[in-house]
Amino acid sequence: MGSSLIRGRHVICKVLDKTRVQMIEDGAVFQRDGTIVEIGKHRALAQKYHPDEILGSGEHIVLPGFVNSHHHVGLIPFQTGSPDAPLELWFASRLGRRDVDLYLDTLYAAFEMIGSGVTTVQHLHSRVNGPAQRIHAAASHVIKAYRDIGMRVSYSFGLRDQNRLVYAPDEQFVARLPADLGAEVAELLRAQAIPLEENFSLFEQLYGEHHGAERVRIQLAPVNLHWCSDRALTMARDCAEKYDVPLHMHLLETRYQKEYARRRTGATAVRHLQSLGLLGPNLTLGHGVWFTESDIDLIAETGTRVCHNASSNLRLRSGIAPLNPLSERGVRVAIGLDEAGINEDRDMLQEMRLVLRLHRVPGMDERVPGASQVLQMATEHGAATTPFGANIGTLEPGKAADIAIISWKDIALPYLDDEVPVVDAVLHRARKAQTVLVAGEPILRDGRFTRLNKEEMLEQFAASLRVPLRPAEARRREVARQLLPHVERFYRDEGYLDEPTGAPFYHVNRKS
Ligand SMILES: [Zn+2]
Repeated sequence: MGSSLIRGRHVICKVLDKTRVQMIEDGAVFQRDGTIVEIGKHRALAQKYHPDEILGSGEHIVLPGFVNSHHHVGLIPFQTGSPDAPLELWFASRLGRRDVDLYLDTLYAAFEMIGSGVTTVQHLHSRVNGPAQRIHAAASHVIKAYRDIGMRVSYSFGLRDQNRLVYAPDEQFVARLPADLGAEVAELLRAQAIPLEENFSLFEQLYGEHHGAERVRIQLAPVNLHWCSDRALTMARDCAEKYDVPLHMHLLETRYQKEYARRRTGATAVRHLQSLGLLGPNLTLGHGVWFTESDIDLIAETGTRVCHNASSNLRLRSGIAPLNPLSERGVRVAIGLDEAGINEDRDMLQEMRLVLRLHRVPGMDERVPGASQVLQMATEHGAATTPFGANIGTLEPGKAADIAIISWKDIALPYLDDEVPVVDAVLHRARKAQTVLVAGEPILRDGRFTRLNKEEMLEQFAASLRVPLRPAEARRREVARQLLPHVERFYRDEGYLDEPTGAPFYHVNRKS
């Protein structure tokens, strides 16, 4: 640990509201041992302090590191033979994924995230077979990758105890399959299951092992309403309260999930979570494409958070989340890249641009997102969905020195009018981060990773995959292929496809 002075043509400290930021021209951040000591004019701080190192320059933009608030894997499903498809069919195709080295897989995505200025990731781990010791080993590989590269991670292992393939109990669905296929699917599903209580002992074990670590936190993630019984949800609620950790839960990703909630609860998914005592600032709802207007009121009233996964929702034909109505009601919304962004990578700058543009509904009013608003989503609001909370997400004395440094020349050459606001220029035109600090430590310096050799690691990863599928993997792929028409038939036979297509609330319930 040591000290550094991070200089910027502009230092963007924090977002004040939808259109304004707190920013210092020719400013600097002085950090010591990972904590921001002072922020001010460069000239004054350069005279006052004697840092071990000077980073940035009068040709850089300095801003808080980004938080990718919803992330799962390294290899993108498309790369492993699961093409973009309606979510419910895509789930089934994911059964055929190949096994990967989780350490290298995690690094693969981390390189991309850090390169686009991400300093903290909400890693929502799922789809590891039991028993619990095996899941613990998988979790440890993932966390080690983040520790080794220097990134901040909030890790959770996804809690699910039912309906693993479709929106019905596993045994009911298996009984509909041809006997041979049904037997194989039943075996694959059995391998995924662990006793409900063991999910929480696994959490407690990981929580204990990483308690006190600077850059690792463990939290809880009941994966989605259909995947969790009410008992699992209330146990997750109680565990989160006991350990004071946040919960992140996928919800209402598709209209079929909205219909599932209606059939299961007679109400909406959000109202059901309220009845179980889960809503509140400690809960983040991932996706939320199919909220109703009263859902949004309830979310706003309770201070529940939302994570917007725009690319993922487009790729898997889920729809467009109602960001404008959520923001109008003051709901704090984070941004997640989910499996991958629209450019088939984990580029937070690109995702911010997508969020900025996706909600530009026709008209002349001011409802559409502004650059500052989107920046706040990717920093402060994302931070608040993790256990790191208010210690990250803005640049202020006493907070962690998690910082992205972006070249102004890359943004402004060959010409950029002086009247273009700086934050708009960054959001519209920045393509990469040049240097990235976590807890004051440069983990990316001038485009090079400081702790690991990216090329070597990626070559190791590629080499590990240059082997034919093992018989079990090949068989799983074949089962997934055979399963697909049965999954589609399930939704048709159960009347899910008969529901009117409609559109997300966003487009149909606007006040005129
Ligand atoms: Zn997800």
